[in-house]
Amino acid sequence: MNFKDQIFELPPLKPNGREREFKYYSDELKAKVIFEHLFNGKTHRWMDKNILDTNGNTNGRNSANILYYLGMKADYRGIFKGLKLSTVIKILEHKGQDYAYAVNLLKFLVEAEIVQTVKSDIEAEMQEEGKAIEGNIKYYYGKRYERDCKNRMLAIKKHGLNCYVCGFNFEEKYGKYGKDFIEVHHIKPLSTLEKAVEINPETDLVPLCANCHRMIHRRKDYILNVDELSEVVKENREKANTSYGCYPK
Ligand SMILES: [Zn+2]
Ligand SMILES: [Zn+2]
Repeated sequence: MNFKDQIFELPPLKPNGREREFKYYSDELKAKVIFEHLFNGKTHRWMDKNILDTNGNTNGRNSANILYYLGMKADYRGIFKGLKLSTVIKILEHKGQDYAYAVNLLKFLVEAEIVQTVKSDIEAEMQEEGKAIEGNIKYYYGKRYERDCKNRMLAIKKHGLNCYVCGFNFEEKYGKYGKDFIEVHHIKPLSTLEKAVEINPETDLVPLCANCHRMIHRRKDYILNVDELSEVVKENREKANTSYGCYPK
């Protein structure tokens, strides 16, 4: 759904101006409090205990300090229930400068979530390769793990989550199971990059769906060029279009 269909009146913000209490917590914790308040309607007490880890020594004061500084009082509780985080970010951006702080914190959450996903994808792939003992992957693969995580994040940030060759998007096809997933192809073979520290995500990394990626690496003696494969996919799509008339893309 387009975010513009979701634009509705929001209650006026009532910021309390108490920055000192607001600054006490990290961006990550503040972002989680805002998220639970806006999307899940959790109580201040719940957030103090489960997010801010205050051992029940408060009456919800700590998360209240965060939310009141931003001006998001009880009338914001659960206001975005059922909406996607990315949609809400667009709505708040559209509302302007007053929401800038909240928007930045929510974006931080998106980023943190993608990092987690990428790490767990890489761990799962390494596990499938069969050598690593569960829970020991970071240790076992050391530098390779760090390098793969970093490169994949760079590639996603730069090129997004659609297959560069065929346009396939995992979330469109597989819903929540495909969210934030894409494989990353290294244009220069990795063995020659082992010593090079810097990878240029613009020129060296390409996001690919699993099918296109496998086709590129199918032959052990010849790695296909990304443009070559794009050409072939395009040709075959056109052929399919002509033979079946209105064959759906
Ligand atoms: Zn593809
Ligand atoms: Zn590859």
